[in-house]
Amino acid sequence: MAQDKVTAEWGELLFTDADMQERLSRPTYKELKQVIDDGAPLDLDIANEVAHAMKEWALEKGATHFTHWFQPLTGITSEKHDGFLTPRSDGSILMAFSGKELVQGEPDASSFPSGGLRATFEARGYTVWDPMSPAFIKDEVLCIPTAFISYTGEALDKKTPLLRSQNALEVQAKRVLALFGREPKRVFTTVGPEQEYFLIKEEDYKARPDLILTGRTLFGCAPAKGQELEEHYFGAIRPTVSEFMKELDDELWKLGIPAKTKHNEVAPCQHELAPVFEKGSTAVDDNLLTMEKMRLLASHHGLVCLQHEKPFEYVNGSGKHNNWSISADDKNLLEPGPDPEHNLQFLVFLACLVAAVDEHADLMRMSVASAGNDHRLGANEAPPAIVSIFLGDNLSPVVEALIHKEHADVAERELIDLGIPQLPAVLRDNTDRNRTSPFAFTGNKFEFRMCGSQQNLSDPNVVLNTAVAEQCERFCDYVAARSDEPFTQVAMRFVRHTFRDHQRIIFDGNGYSPDWEEEAIRRGLPNLKTTPDALGALMDPDNIALFEKYGVLNEAELHARYVAKSEQYAKLINIEANTMTYMARHMYLPALMSYSGELAETVATKAGLGIAGKAEKDVVEMITAGIDEVYKLTARLEELASHAASKANPTECCALCRDEVIPAMDALRSAVDAMERLCGEDWWPVPSYNQMLFYV
Ligand code: ADP
Ligand code: MG
Repeated sequence: MAQDKVTAEWGELLFTDADMQERLSRPTYKELKQVIDDGAPLDLDIANEVAHAMKEWALEKGATHFTHWFQPLTGITSEKHDGFLTPRSDGSILMAFSGKELVQGEPDASSFPSGGLRATFEARGYTVWDPMSPAFIKDEVLCIPTAFISYTGEALDKKTPLLRSQNALEVQAKRVLALFGREPKRVFTTVGPEQEYFLIKEEDYKARPDLILTGRTLFGCAPAKGQELEEHYFGAIRPTVSEFMKELDDELWKLGIPAKTKHNEVAPCQHELAPVFEKGSTAVDDNLLTMEKMRLLASHHGLVCLQHEKPFEYVNGSGKHNNWSISADDKNLLEPGPDPEHNLQFLVFLACLVAAVDEHADLMRMSVASAGNDHRLGANEAPPAIVSIFLGDNLSPVVEALIHKEHADVAERELIDLGIPQLPAVLRDNTDRNRTSPFAFTGNKFEFRMCGSQQNLSDPNVVLNTAVAEQCERFCDYVAARSDEPFTQVAMRFVRHTFRDHQRIIFDGNGYSPDWEEEAIRRGLPNLKTTPDALGALMDPDNIALFEKYGVLNEAELHARYVAKSEQYAKLINIEANTMTYMARHMYLPALMSYSGELAETVATKAGLGIAGKAEKDVVEMITAGIDEVYKLTARLEELASHAASKANPTECCALCRDEVIPAMDALRSAVDAMERLCGEDWWPVPSYNQMLFYV
């Protein structure tokens, strides 16, 4: 039977299980499978055979180089290409790839941010093969997914803590399941990231230094039309964009990335891609690859893909929803089952999740903190900076009933009296969608909606996994301390008490409303509005204790992350400020001077002829005043930005960026934008919002 195109090309550039089975000896394949499936330690002996098989496969697919693919603290991926080519003494060449080259690499680590870790420990950093993530080919390069660690084993990357947190959650969730009499082989998280992005014309992009240097427009007055007609959402896709999306799907499918849904988003030029969910760390890897492919392939269509959280003021920014659940083998633990006993297990995990998010709301907020995302959170287009949980009309009453039930304990059979039997059916058909909630239960998974479009999803998943692992352990301890009571009764009490103690985090109302901010303060929920406010969570003793307890990140690693994130924030703001002053001095001021100069000449000429020319005179006066204002505010921004940049202490530097530099940037932008409204289009040095967002 003829195979369809998609099936035929699916995973063509991915070194899949089938490839391994075909190319490895039976014992080696079995050993490698144990490493991949059961988490058995990697025996170095098998590495040589695996490396050889991978190389042969890659050469057949046209690859010439290999690279260790890793995720430094910047969040984007890094690679350094090495050829397979090895010269022989007789002048011929050999295409070689050893087990050692597969397992370990030593990139020049000094150029990656380490938050001071390498200075404290050891200068070198190593990449180490992660056999759980399959190798793949990208641009004729065999890419080997790796973790990036220091000589003494400290994580220098985003992936290592993610793998550690997945292990922690697996261990604790298995203990919970054991109490329910279940012994799954593997417990893992499932993640489905919905990726938003903008596509604009390459020629417009190239004419805007702010887009080139910072990924967002730092100036631009409001377009004549915004997103108010909501015509773009699910509207017809532009033909060029459609061509881009087709090529993207093709390329992603070849890499075994299950891209599934594509559509327009709310803002003009905004789109979304959602894949089918995968195991946590695979989903994070695949999201990074997807983002990279988007950027690359856009250029084939004369487009540029903007992944910044806020490329344009006045229309929505871009986020990335992290859909998250836990699975035991193939069973989704957040899927409410048909019988009461199953509901109890579901309720235990739900309670653990609610407690985890409440106790570490500050960490959840920290995990999505970035200069770019600060433009979205709390801006009535994205969830507020306050973390809360939405359970929905179906689940909330159940939780309410559990909290307010008068009996101290509810026996197993009483589950039925709680009004839960109808739960599974209703839940599966969860049509209730509160778009304003940062953390929403959507039928059989949670959707964490605060993530930024350009961020690496590792951080939010590390926090979730670790915080839930802690609550799972708390449950096991709770049960162990009451071993003389029936398990079901104890478990029910745990659920009831947990919901009662963490009720404040549950909020089903409108997250965009100002009332909620006040209500949240009353409830004692943190409202960390900016990145500098949010990063402090990394240094909080309770949070350090959490990560250390589960071996996810130690104090030094957390401190390093605090420093790296602070530096990244301050550097970004500094680049934005510099770009603004550059554009003001070299583009906007000259344009305004030349336009008003020409107008002034006209005014003079007309006056010589005895013609009043009132409008021209008004405009010249307004622009002249505007020039003075822009000139003054540019100097002010320069001064404040260099003052902030002179601070060596990252905390101090970030605070100055937030309190002084950003307000000065906003002031300069308003002054320039006001001039854009007056200046003739032929004089204006960059494409306007009208041009960029509403092209035909
Ligand atoms: P929406 O209606 O929010 O746009 P969808 O229902 O299309 O979203 O699903 C969004 C994402 O959630 C998809 O990537 C999907 O694969 C993912 N998803 C579905 N079930 C799970 C699950 N159990 N665990 C993690 N992600 C899931
Ligand atoms: Mg969604």
